[in-house]
Amino acid sequence: MVEPAPCCMDHREHYRLDAELFDYADTSDRLSADFDRRLHSGILRKLQGGGILADVGSGDGWVSSFLAGKRFQVIHFDLSHANLRRIVERRGDVNGPAAAVADAYSIPLRGGAADAVILSEVLEHLEDPARAIRETARLLKPGGRLLIAAPYREKIRYYLCIHCNRMTPANAHLHSFDEGKLGALLDDGGFDVASRSLIGCRLFLVTRASYLLRWLPFGVWRLFDRAFGLAAGKFMNIVVSARRR
Ligand SMILES: [Zn+2]
Repeated sequence: MVEPAPCCMDHREHYRLDAELFDYADTSDRLSADFDRRLHSGILRKLQGGGILADVGSGDGWVSSFLAGKRFQVIHFDLSHANLRRIVERRGDVNGPAAAVADAYSIPLRGGAADAVILSEVLEHLEDPARAIRETARLLKPGGRLLIAAPYREKIRYYLCIHCNRMTPANAHLHSFDEGKLGALLDDGGFDVASRSLIGCRLFLVTRASYLLRWLPFGVWRLFDRAFGLAAGKFMNIVVSARRR
């Protein structure tokens, strides 16, 4: 069998168009929106201290909406001007928020300026995740925190693109991650893993049990999530906190 070559790639233009064409905040269904809220809580619970937080690949800015008025000053970086405009319009406050169009490989911030960096559901979209990790290491002070969230052991599906007859991955996910792969990337990039957790047991979500328990505080919800995980294994996401050496 002939292995078709992948689509040629222009990731900057792709994500610029993606944000113009789709508003994920509007289109996500209630169940996935509810899980997103849980995942985001799970990520931010690993955040300690305060200072400058670079949200790299910020999308429409859930990080700052969770952290509004808290101890971090968030700077949003995204390839899409449309996404950044949504953040600014939603916040609408006098002092910000700070936002710049930028590529994860090259963030317009001086070295060592950031106390924390978030890469949430970004790495799986990048051709060269190691390069983005190295860039976050450059941004962070020694001891600064990098929080990564990514789909866990995702089985990437491919489609044959009707325009160019080449293979293209669903949701533009180029990589699948697990503990070992992220651990190696972080170690090579100058980080020590501080903690990692799997979140969103598939069975807990697809049975709607997670949604039915949406009124539970996060900590209690997590007990159920873990219990389902013990019984039924598969989790949707991995969240890793790493410390810059
Ligand atoms: Zn194509």
